[in-house]
Order: sequence, then C-alpha cells, then structure tokens
Amino acid sequence: MKLTFPHMGNVYIAGKAFFEELGQQVIIPPRCSSKTLEMGTKHAPETICLPLKIMIGNFIESIEKGADTILLTGSCGPCRFGYYSILEKNVLNDLGYDIDFVVLDPLREGLKPLRDNVYKLFKAKNFMDVIIAGKIGWQLIKKADYLIQLSNIKRAYAIDSYEVDSIIDDYYRKVEKTFGQKAMMNLMDETMEKLNRVKIKKDYQPIKIGLIGEIYTVIEPFVNLEIERKLGHMGVLVEKSLTPTIWVEHHVKSYPFGSKTERQKYRLAKPYLKTLVGGHGRETVGSALYYKDRGFDGVIQLLPLNCMPEIVAKSILSTVSRDFDFPIMTLILDEMTGEAGYLTRLEAFVDLLRRKKEEVRYG
Ligand code: SF4
Repeated sequence: MKLTFPHMGNVYIAGKAFFEELGQQVIIPPRCSSKTLEMGTKHAPETICLPLKIMIGNFIESIEKGADTILLTGSCGPCRFGYYSILEKNVLNDLGYDIDFVVLDPLREGLKPLRDNVYKLFKAKNFMDVIIAGKIGWQLIKKADYLIQLSNIKRAYAIDSYEVDSIIDDYYRKVEKTFGQKAMMNLMDETMEKLNRVKIKKDYQPIKIGLIGEIYTVIEPFVNLEIERKLGHMGVLVEKSLTPTIWVEHHVKSYPFGSKTERQKYRLAKPYLKTLVGGHGRETVGSALYYKDRGFDGVIQLLPLNCMPEIVAKSILSTVSRDFDFPIMTLILDEMTGEAGYLTRLEAFVDLLRRKKEEVRYG
C-alpha cells in the first residue's frame, strides 16, 4: 500500500512521520500550488466547494508520484463533505486512475468498517496496538501544531518578522527529508529552539485576531493566502479556532462527549444557533463569542465560496457583532480571489482594530 492523503496545513508532517513509524509507505502530496488548484478546477464539478477541487489536484499529484491508496476522513453531517470520497473516486476513475480509498467514517456509521480500516492503516493486530499507535500520532499532531502557533506568536512580537518565515521555510524543507517519529520530533524541537532565539520587541501589545470558519480554509495556507503570515507581519497575534489538534481532541480523544473547549463553544453559540448546520458552522458562531470573551480585538471568518454551513454562520455573525460591538470580518475564498484586494481588506481591518483599541485606551 502506497498511502497518500489530502494536503491540509501541517497535517502531512504528523501524518508522514506517523505512518512511516507504523511501517506504511507514504507518498506526501506536494505542497498546494496554483498547479494543484488548476488541475482540481479542471476535473472537479464546477460548482463544488474549493477544498474538493484542491484535493483532486493533490491526489493527481500524489498518484503521479506512485500513490495507490487515499486516506480520507468521512462525515455524516448536512454538508457536502460526506460525499467527498464518492465524488473524488468517480472523478479519479473517469480520469483512468485505479485507486483505493480508505475512509474513516464516524463511529455512528458503523463500528466494523471503522475498526477494519483503523487496523489496516495502523497495521494493528489488537486494540493495544491501536492505542500505542494513537499515542504516537497524538504527540506528533500536538507538537506540529504547537510549533506553528509558536511561530505566529513570535512573528507578532519579532523585531524582524521575516526571520520567523525563514525558520519555518527551512523546517518545511527539512520535513521532506526526515523519516519516522523520532527524527521528526527532533526536527520540531530544533525548530522551536530557533524560534525561541528570535529577538522580540519589549513591552509590545499586539492586536489579537481569532481565525474562525471552515476548517480547510482556516488550516491550509495556500487556500487562505498565508493569512497567518500576512497578519503576523502587521504585528498581529493570530490564533486559529480549528487545528488538527483541536479536531482530534474533540472527535477522537474526548469521544463521545467532545472536548471541553468545543462544548463551551456550543454553549456560547446556543442563543443564536441551537442545532448542527453541517461542517463547523455552529462552532464558527461559538468561536466568535469565545474570542470576544478572551479579550481578542476581533475575528476573521474564512470560508470557501459555496460553503453552506459557513453561509449560515455568516448571516448570524453580523448579529453577534452588533450585539457585542465586536468587529468581525468575513473573507470568502475561491480560485478567483486576488491577493492585492485581499491584503487591502486585511490592512483596513487591522487599522480599524488599532483605532478602536486606542479609543478605548485614551478615551
Ligand atoms: S464545510 Fe463547506 S467547504 Fe467543507 S465540504 Fe462542507 S460545504 Fe464544502
């Protein structure tokens, strides 16, 4: 089995080391690029949401590198993600690719298929093997996410924020040549040490912005046009409401009750939205209120064009913003999004938050 999976932020770093550690052959998709998007847009249905288009591009690139099996998580909520694996298989088959899909559907879709797929992927003989492998995966995901959040913090406070970019770019280059869990953990430790040596501005009070919205758009830098870096270079401290760690903690580690933070977001969203609307629509509403309560200066909602759950959330967020005088900006992304206009909107939003903060400070 030559395994691949969608390129989604830094998931591939933990995924590569994890499956290599378990003895699987992993073909990591190249980082998302205009070529990936172009291929996906050409072959995917025209009106489908952007993540599927990019994934199709990812898969074609991985298949051309030798992958024969695609790993994907499933969903049963009221949004298109539940159909992704079927649609993607059809598109790839029509293109003449003979490829296997391993879909990890939620437990409520049936224990046996999920168990069989996990045992196959983890090369597990019993439940204990699954637990041991799960612990390795959890440590890798947590560390990979921590590193990226550390880079966001350092970028906001750094005297030279571009020094952080060069450390992270060097890390990404080395990831490709690093094999297995131990070597990857060491690489991450070395990178954290470098980040901690970056010189920072003393007594600096950054603007704080939470990134909320559709998970793929929040996590994948190619799709969100490197929003974390762009804001970081403006001296903004950025935090994402969704990361692989948050997802795993909520859906796997704390199953069936869910993680404390995500349950808190459901509670916060309740006066505005009581039910599941698919994707992370409910969490988006809860996350806006969560960041307001934590003293953030504002939030930015990111969503791909046509994303149904986030359109529902968007319509509610304007009320949330009005009720609490809390700045919320929505950015919709698709293959036509222009970088210059996007940057202008970010700069204008940051200016607005700075002025608001100064008004509060100086009256
Ligand atoms: S959450 Fe939005 S972008 Fe993601 S699959 Fe559902 S509709 Fe598409």
